[in-house]
Amino acid sequence: IKQLIEWGTEFDREGGKLVFTQEAAHSRRRILHSHGDSTGAEFVRSLIARAGRESRISLLPFAATESLIVADGRCMGVRYLDPILRSPREIFANAVILCTGGAGQLYQHTTNPPVATGDGMAMAYFAGADMADMEFIQFHPTALSLEGAPRFLLSEAMRGEGGILRNAQGERFMGRYDERLELAPRDIVSRSIVAEMRRTGSRMVFLDMTALDGGFLRHRFPKIDETCRAFGLDIAKDMLPVSPASHYCMGGVRTDLWGRTTLPGLYAAGEVTCTGVHGANR
Ligand SMILES: Cc1cc2nc3c(=O)[nH]c(=O)nc-3n(C[C@H](O)[C@H](O)[C@H](O)COP(=O)(O)OP(=O)(O)OC[C@H]3O[C@@H](n4cnc5c(N)ncnc54)[C@H](O)[C@@H]3O)c2cc1C
Repeated sequence: IKQLIEWGTEFDREGGKLVFTQEAAHSRRRILHSHGDSTGAEFVRSLIARAGRESRISLLPFAATESLIVADGRCMGVRYLDPILRSPREIFANAVILCTGGAGQLYQHTTNPPVATGDGMAMAYFAGADMADMEFIQFHPTALSLEGAPRFLLSEAMRGEGGILRNAQGERFMGRYDERLELAPRDIVSRSIVAEMRRTGSRMVFLDMTALDGGFLRHRFPKIDETCRAFGLDIAKDMLPVSPASHYCMGGVRTDLWGRTTLPGLYAAGEVTCTGVHGANR
C-alpha cells in the first residue's frame, strides 16, 4: 500500500488520514477505497502513469497475446496479434510475466469485465505449466439483477456500511442462515441468497440501503449511485435487485511466492495465479 501511495495512487482520506471501510467476514474496518467506489480504476490510472515514466517499460496497448513460445522446456516469449495490423507477431524475452486476470466470463452471470476470459490460464496450461485450485470460483452475493442492465457490482462495502438483504416478500432473511447476517463470508451470503430465491420462487433478492442517509450514500458510492440512476433506481430510496454472480478465480497458474511458475522462464502475478494465499475461499 505504501508503495502504491508513493507511486501516486490516491486513497480516500479524512483530515489527511486514510479512511477504512468494512467488508464481509472482517472483524474490523480495514479496506481502503478511492473516489468512493472506484478503487480499481484509480489503481489502473496510477499504475499506467507510473509505468509510463519508466524508460525500461514499453507499453503496447490492445495487443492480444495468443500463446507462449516454449523451447527446450523454457518459456522464451509470446505470440501476439499486432493491434494495428492485426497480424501475428512474436516477442522473445529472458522472462515472461503473465498478468492477464481471471476468467469470470466463463459464466453467464459475472461481475467481471469482458477481458476476463482466462486467456493467461489457458496459455500457461497449454505451455505445460502446473495449474491449481481451478475449481474454486468465488461468487459475489450482490450483483445488480435487472433486465437489460449489466451485472454491475453493488459493492460489499454497501453491506459494510449498514445495507441489509430482503427477500421478495420484504423479509430480512440472513438470520435464518448465519449469525453474522449480511456480513457473513461471501460464499455463505451467496448460498443463502440462492436458497432464499429458491424458497420464495424469485430470481433475485433486494439490497435495502434506505435506513442510511441519502447524502452519505451518494458521497460514499458515487459510481454505484450513477449506475443505478441510469437504470431508474435511487440507492437511498429503492429496493435494489441483486443476485450472486461469478467474481473471482481463487485458482490459476501455480506459482511460488516469487511469482515463479513450474515452467522455467514463466512468471505470473495477480488473479491469473494460484499463489496459495486464498485457499478455497477469499
Ligand atoms: C467489479 C469488481 C470489483 C472488485 N473489487 C475488488 C475490491 O474491492 N478489492 C479487491 O481486492 N479486489 C476486487 N476485485 C478483484 C480485483 O479487481 C481483481 O482480482 C484484480 O483486478 C485482478 O488484477 P490483475 O492485474 O490480475 O488482472 P486484471 O486487472 O483483470 O488485468 C488483466 C489485464 O490483462 C489483459 N488481458 C487479458 N487477456 C489478455 C490477452 N490474451 N492478451 C493481452 N492482454 C490480456 C486484460 O485486458 C487486462 O487489462 C474486484 C473485481 C471486480 C470485477
